[in-house]
Amino acid sequence: MLAMKVKRAEKYGFCSGVRIADLKVKRFAAAGGRGAVLGQLVHNERVVEEMETLGVRTVDGLAAAQEPTIIFSAHGVPPSLHERARSAGLTILDTTCKFVYDLHRESIAALAEGYHLVFIGDPKHREVIGYTNDLDASTYHIISTREGAESVDWSQYARIKVFYQTTLNAEEFEDVVQSIERRAARVERADTICYATKQNQDAARVLAGDPDIDLILVIGGTKSANTRHLWEICRESKPSYLVQGAEDLDAEWFREANVVGVTAGASTPDYVIDEVEARIAELVPAFAMSAAAVSG
Ligand code: SF4
Repeated sequence: MLAMKVKRAEKYGFCSGVRIADLKVKRFAAAGGRGAVLGQLVHNERVVEEMETLGVRTVDGLAAAQEPTIIFSAHGVPPSLHERARSAGLTILDTTCKFVYDLHRESIAALAEGYHLVFIGDPKHREVIGYTNDLDASTYHIISTREGAESVDWSQYARIKVFYQTTLNAEEFEDVVQSIERRAARVERADTICYATKQNQDAARVLAGDPDIDLILVIGGTKSANTRHLWEICRESKPSYLVQGAEDLDAEWFREANVVGVTAGASTPDYVIDEVEARIAELVPAFAMSAAAVSG
């Protein structure tokens, strides 16, 4: 019997923004800081649990914070929330990703230049709420489907600027944006897809296209949009399983597999990926991990 191998994607897991947010909070806790994170620090239940063991709770609103510091996640918050937190006497530990701040700045500048703003993304996603919550509702649209794009009379706007939620797979929304472009006088696209997301997605495509790979494990939180996007990319070409961690693995999946591809969402810590591979080794006696990465 051939030894089974694991191939990790060339790019996977924590992005720079999440790595920095994670580090900032750990340093804060190690220095004795008492704080509460507004919403999950990243969309990963394990990270939330880890934070709780460090004494940093997750809360769903400013009012629930009993600690002196409120921590804003890498997704960012509406600018008015900074003011509200300060008014409530809270100190802010801001871990908003610099790319999210870039989009905040660029969209506000576009608004000042007279553009109508279109955010392509999930209206319930915290990042999108951060961009739009403080804006006058007549100045923007949040669009996530082609039907949504077709339901608006775009011709009423002289200039439109399109912003993508940073973690989107832009290709999936090409028809949505084209639908707006066909109906509007002038549309510009801002380049706001995060390179980390792009790189993880490109590497997942390479993994999915690798003829040696029999199945793919996509590791990440069930609430993580970018993890689900990776899973969608992989399952188009290969049997693919979205798992939160080692506990989700099923030995049956590996019965016929010689090579297992592994990738992970931008909110998945390295130790969870290591645990998954260790669990495969327990489930599959003929397992031998290959350090070889799939080249992009
Ligand atoms: Fe920042 Fe990109 Fe990570 Fe989002 S995915 S936190 S935009 S680095």
